[in-house]
Parts: sequence; C-alpha cells; structure tokens
Amino acid sequence: MAERVLITGAGGHIGGYLTAQLLSEGADVRAVDVKPADEWLQRYEDAENLTLDLRLREDCERAVAGMSVAYNLACDMGGMGYIDEHKALCMLSVLINTQLLDASRGAGVERFLFASSACVYAAGKQSVAELEPLREQDAYPAEPQDGYGWEKLFGERMCRHFTEDFGLETRVVRYHNVYGPRGTFEGGREKVPAAICRRVAEARLTGGGEIEIWGDGEQTRSFTYIDDCIEGTLAVMRGPSSEPLNVGSAERVSINELADIVEGIAGTSLERTYDTSAPQGVRGRNSDNTLVRKLTGWEPSTSLEDGLRPTYAWIEEQVAARIAA
Ligand code: NAD
Repeated sequence: MAERVLITGAGGHIGGYLTAQLLSEGADVRAVDVKPADEWLQRYEDAENLTLDLRLREDCERAVAGMSVAYNLACDMGGMGYIDEHKALCMLSVLINTQLLDASRGAGVERFLFASSACVYAAGKQSVAELEPLREQDAYPAEPQDGYGWEKLFGERMCRHFTEDFGLETRVVRYHNVYGPRGTFEGGREKVPAAICRRVAEARLTGGGEIEIWGDGEQTRSFTYIDDCIEGTLAVMRGPSSEPLNVGSAERVSINELADIVEGIAGTSLERTYDTSAPQGVRGRNSDNTLVRKLTGWEPSTSLEDGLRPTYAWIEEQVAARIAA
C-alpha cells in the first residue's frame, strides 16, 4: 500500500517541492496550507489538497487523520526583514507544531518531521564573519534568534519530549537558508538570494545601475539549493536519529560575494548602496555537516553558482513578466 503522507506548508517553497518528490515516488499525499488554492506556489492535482489553519486543533485533527507520516513545514515566516518585524506572529507558529504533534499522537502517525532552522543557533557563537561552521550542539546554551528562533527551539524540544514520553518517532531538520526557483521573491517575505536576484533583474531590465544591500555586505551565510534541501529532508526523515540535524550547505560566502555571483550570472555590474540600519541578523553563519553525513550519508552537492543559475533565470522571467504587464 502507498505510504500516506501529510505535508503541511505545502503551498510554500519547500513544501511544494517535497509534494512533487513524494508524489513521484508513489506516495499518497495530503497537502495542507492555510493559503487559498490560487496562492500556493505549487499545487498538484494528484495530491489531496486542503486549505486548513493548523493553529486550530480541529484543523490539525482533520490534517493528520489516516496519515502514517507527517512533514510539518507550516510556519509564519520570511526573510530577515520579516522575522525581525513580526516576532509575535512568528512565535504563534508554536501553536501549529504543538497542536499537530499532539493530534498526531492520537491518530496513529508513525513518524513526524519538524522543519527547524539555523536561527536556533546561539547568537554568541555567530558574532564574527569568519566563524567555525555550526555543529548541532552549538544551539546550547540557548540564545537563539529572538522570536522566530525561540519558536523553532521550543518546537525541537516538543519533538524530543514527544519521542521520549509518548514514543512518537520524530525527526528535526535545521535548514540553512534554502533558495531555488519558484520561491517567494517579492512582497517582504523573500530571503536574501531571491531579494538580490530580483534587484539585479530589475536593474538589468530597466536599465537601473544600482542595488541596495542590507548591512555592509560582509556578513556571511551559506545557502542551500532546493534539490539538496529535499534530498536532505528525506535522508533525515528516513534515517535513524531523532536528534536535530543540519540540512545546509557548507559553502560560506559574504553577501557581497553572493551579489557578485548573481551579477556574474546576469552579465551585469551594478553600483551598490549599503543600508546599515536594515536588519542583518548574525554576523556569520555556516553549516557543519559532519553529524548529518555520519548519520544519514547525505550532504549537499550543488555549488552556490550552479544553484543560483536556474534561480536567477526563473526570477528574471517573473520580473520581466511584471514589467511587461
Ligand atoms: P514558506 O513560507 O514558503 O512556506 C510555509 C508555508 O506555511 C506557507 O505556504 C504558509 O502559508 C504556510 N502556513 C503558515 N501558517 C499556516 C497555518 N496556520 N496553517 C497552515 N499552513 C500555514 O516557507 P519555506 O521556505 O517553504 O519553509 C518551510 C519550513 O522550513 C518553515 O517551517 C520554515 O520555518 C523552515 N525553514 C525554512 C528556511 C528557508 O530558508 N526557506 C530556513 C529555515 C527553516
């Protein structure tokens, strides 16, 4: 019998790709999101598509009924600008994971995955741009990103204790900056790779000569291509460990270097202005993949430049269509 899989946040970036992957493997997928159907980033008619608000207990019960496996990707989140200005809304996502876990326990779900984030890592361990990659243990002593990071850390602990106390098998992925085509690239929730691709595309297509960078551009991050993210998610879900595991790239770049790569792909070179009052997050962040590689055999294989090519091409297409309209 096909595996019965719940994917929450299926109308979002990662959820859309995960739905496509699991359908292609023959799973019986229930895809759930709070957004109305026409706002889902990807939607597959082969899945059972439901619009539900998973902050509500009864909607969680409807979502998990009859499912054997659950991937909880639903969350109210966005890039640094969004999570910095909407801490309470981000923290309200605690209702989603809490209600969904508890509903899963009573409904016979055998395995439950929670999408956590590199924002759980302790701020004090990310204060320099040239930092050591973050190992899973670096989330403690706890000093996560205010708002969003606390919600993720709490969600991780809930999973741990549901496993210990109730025997529900849980898995936790700590995503590091996931990007790729068909993601959010405008409207305030976009993350830095999409924001830079959009600004470069707008400048290129309209003859503008300038892009704005938040901060001084020397803060560092690593960026995970969506195909690697999906492979990593499945490796962790199907692997042996309930411990939170990094799903991230270990290719660290500064935001200025990221912009250089995007400009190189676009075949343009733009003046940069720096908004040092804009939210920048921690000074440096990178993923140490030693543990996830050891426990699951997975590690990312897409270089940043290779991942940004299709991402830029897709975003430029969207920007061109908007300009034409
Ligand atoms: P996304 O915003 O594209 O998708 C999240 C989806 O959750 C959205 O479609 C949203 O409508 C849905 N949602 C929000 N509230 C809901 C509710 N009450 N009920 C049902 N659905 C609801 O985000 P994404 O990039 O696909 O991320 C998926 C998960 O991975 C999230 O939990 C996110 O916090 C986590 N994560 C992502 C990244 C990243 O770089 N993309 C990094 C770290 C962690």
